[in-house]
Amino acid sequence: MKNKLESNTLLNVLCLEDVLKDAELINEMFVDAGYLVNMDIAIEKNEYAEFLKSRNYDIILSDNSLPNFDAFSALKLALALKPEIPFICVSGTIGEEKAVELLKDGASDYVLKDRPGRLAFAVSCALEVSQNKKEKQKAEQDLISANKELIFQNAEKEKRTEELIKALERAEESDRLKSSFLANMSHEIRTPMNSIMGFASLLPEEESKLLINNYASIIVQNSEHLLHIIDDIVLYSRLQTGIINYQPNSFDAQTLLSNVIKSFNLPEVIKSVDFKIETKDTLLINSDHEKLQQIFTNLISNAYKYTSCGTISIGFTKQKEEIIFFVKDTGIGIPPNELEKVFERFYRASNVNKGSISGTGLGLSIVKELIHLLGGRIWVESYSGLGSSFYFTIPYKR
Ligand code: ATP
Ligand code: MG
Repeated sequence: MKNKLESNTLLNVLCLEDVLKDAELINEMFVDAGYLVNMDIAIEKNEYAEFLKSRNYDIILSDNSLPNFDAFSALKLALALKPEIPFICVSGTIGEEKAVELLKDGASDYVLKDRPGRLAFAVSCALEVSQNKKEKQKAEQDLISANKELIFQNAEKEKRTEELIKALERAEESDRLKSSFLANMSHEIRTPMNSIMGFASLLPEEESKLLINNYASIIVQNSEHLLHIIDDIVLYSRLQTGIINYQPNSFDAQTLLSNVIKSFNLPEVIKSVDFKIETKDTLLINSDHEKLQQIFTNLISNAYKYTSCGTISIGFTKQKEEIIFFVKDTGIGIPPNELEKVFERFYRASNVNKGSISGTGLGLSIVKELIHLLGGRIWVESYSGLGSSFYFTIPYKR
């Protein structure tokens, strides 16, 4: 077997030996074998424990018969404190049986004092075994680390795949929404367009002045409707693509409400609907006046369109960091299961008579986008047949 300790290699030895002469003999034996030795000699348990705790050794050599201490207890302590250091019992008295027992307990070897020549060989073997053990442990540790790294890489790969799948799903969903938007848009444009073309084609043949006027007014009505749809579609698309910017300015909320009512062009159909501004307070706010006006216009047009008689009231309350605006009506209301859907583009509730009440279903989608742009949120409370209350917030900034 190859001697692990080359000459001139410093060997740190802890020697548990109460007979100084024996310790010197051991030292000599190392020197004779050509080793450089740095040897601490402990003569009793406490000293031995102290050395073990405070220093590092290549090997422990232990006598068996010490006052109140023996090789078994010394081995036990070594295994508890420094299990990696090889332990050799060097004894003059230990019998074969005890020696085997000591080996079973974890000692590397035993050497009889009357055959000291074996010590160098035993030490060399023990060191080689210990070295192999260390290398094996290191290899195992490296394997565990490599395995952990592999598990981590796999988890990362799975996460990435999941993200890619989600991104793909989002892209497909947005593609689907785009297609349905285009399909809806072309349908909404075609309806008034067909009507315009149909009545326009009748005009050259028609002789009755009354009918010509009638057709012309239908054409004008549909053209206006078409223009409104195109305006809404363009506005909605611009909001969606983020082209429209938030442009804040300072103004009084109360004045905004009265201006909205004043600027509101009521359709010529006469309805017994009253308009009411519920809030009398003035409140200086900082927001985008033009967009707030557009929001109110859409909400009030809806309230008027879907209310045949009663009241439309508007107002606001200030709560901590936000202002809550509202538009309430006493109209047809919205079925409970469609309260969320009315904010989707082109959606019109099932209780609306689409033949007699015109609409595209873009008004509330625009409102929702505008409110997001202003940093707020919108919701509706409604009871079928009793009316609807639309609420929306904007952050309060003076
Ligand atoms: P337009 O695009 O011309 O505004 P629209 O009014 O039908 O058409 P939205 O304003 O988006 O579309 O409203 C969506 C749907 O929500 C309406 O069709 C209607 O069913 C319902 N709705 C909105 N406001 C009210 C309201 N005040 N009372 C009852 N139903 C309403
Ligand atoms: Mg509307």
